[in-house]
Amino acid sequence: MEKVYQTKVVKFGGSSLASAEQFKKSANIILAEESRRFVVPSAPGKRFSEDTKVTDLLISCYKKSARGDDWSADFAEIKNRYNSIIAELGLTLNLDSEYAIIEENLKKGTTIDYTASRGEYLNGMVLANYIGYEFVDSAEVIFFDENGKFDAEKTNTVLSARLADKERAVIPGFYGSAFDGSVKTFSRGGSDVTGAIVARAVSADIYENWTDVSGFLMCDPRIVNNPRPIKVITYRELRELSYMGASVLHEDSIFPVKLAGIPINIRNTNRPEDAGTLIVPSAEGYKDADELITGIAGKNGFAIVRIEKDMMNQELGFGMRVLKVFSDLGMQFEHLPSGIDTMSVVVHEDEIKGREDEVIAAMKEAVNPDFIEIVPSISLVAIVGRNMAGTPGTAARIFSALARVGVNIRMIDQGSSELNIIVGVDESAFRRTIKSIYLEFCIEYEL
Ligand code: ASP
Repeated sequence: MEKVYQTKVVKFGGSSLASAEQFKKSANIILAEESRRFVVPSAPGKRFSEDTKVTDLLISCYKKSARGDDWSADFAEIKNRYNSIIAELGLTLNLDSEYAIIEENLKKGTTIDYTASRGEYLNGMVLANYIGYEFVDSAEVIFFDENGKFDAEKTNTVLSARLADKERAVIPGFYGSAFDGSVKTFSRGGSDVTGAIVARAVSADIYENWTDVSGFLMCDPRIVNNPRPIKVITYRELRELSYMGASVLHEDSIFPVKLAGIPINIRNTNRPEDAGTLIVPSAEGYKDADELITGIAGKNGFAIVRIEKDMMNQELGFGMRVLKVFSDLGMQFEHLPSGIDTMSVVVHEDEIKGREDEVIAAMKEAVNPDFIEIVPSISLVAIVGRNMAGTPGTAARIFSALARVGVNIRMIDQGSSELNIIVGVDESAFRRTIKSIYLEFCIEYEL
């Protein structure tokens, strides 16, 4: 049976609200379901690749005004963007008094946060007017603390009380109030965060994040042609993939909904018929959730310090002494796969570059290894999949897929949760590694 949702929070990104045409698509989506009660808009984004986002125009106004340069042309462009959307949607709304306030504040030397936030503020007003929803100013319901950090608990208390008796509302993305009452924004792309905060506050059944792609892809489309979208991914898998460089959601935007166990659905405003990617606390019970591999991601720029010593497994405190060398030198380590008599410490190459001799000398002093080498220019590739746990033969398939294309595996590391397998390969083999693993696991052959 299809799940029936009572309350959805729907966030629309800049490209979904970049023009009147995109506004119409977004409104159709919102009004198609009664459950889409709370809407979080971004500012108008790019309509075509050389276009400028309204947020960037606002930031430009701020910078020019701070330097004493003329910002009137940028501001006129902003007004023009909104006025043409309003006219093409056939609305009677007039934002002149709002523009005048922003101009006045810019002249008085307002902050960059206030200026940048006006893109969402004005867009929220236009959208609320167009779909007939109430407008709630985020400055009144989203708060930052005295250290400038997002105040999750105060926000949740105020926001949930404020929305409790509202049937429908538009809450602009990207900003809230600082401790001193001035407007403060999240980092760029922060409307995703607002959407998650609202979803938590109204205990939404689902947080829909509408954008211009039909969900996350199983791997980087610059490496594999047309990779398949991920249908279902858990929060933990998502974290593994984003750690490995997959560009997914803002970490902060996951946090509020993850805390409340609310699923996120990434959807495409231009292809609303696509199911998109569903991010869930646990994939149990979701159909289409039985892929062996969920996604593949990788990063360059690592080095491996390989240490060998006969009988090292019997030497008490051996690993601790190895790691102490790194902490004494102020270096982070990323992974630590080890065998009986070998240990490989994976570090960021930029931290060890130029300090190789220092590391080798300190290591000789600390553990007197039989052999030590530093292998530079390593890529790490993570193969992430909750269904790999308990499936025998996955690592063997990875080995043979890579052997077939002549890739030498420098290191392999499987987390104890069996959620991912990380392989270290030479940077020159990076693309081949990802491609061959994708071909091995993600292509369904027609029999
Ligand atoms: N408009 C803001 C930006 O361009 C925030 C957002 O779109 O999420 O970064």
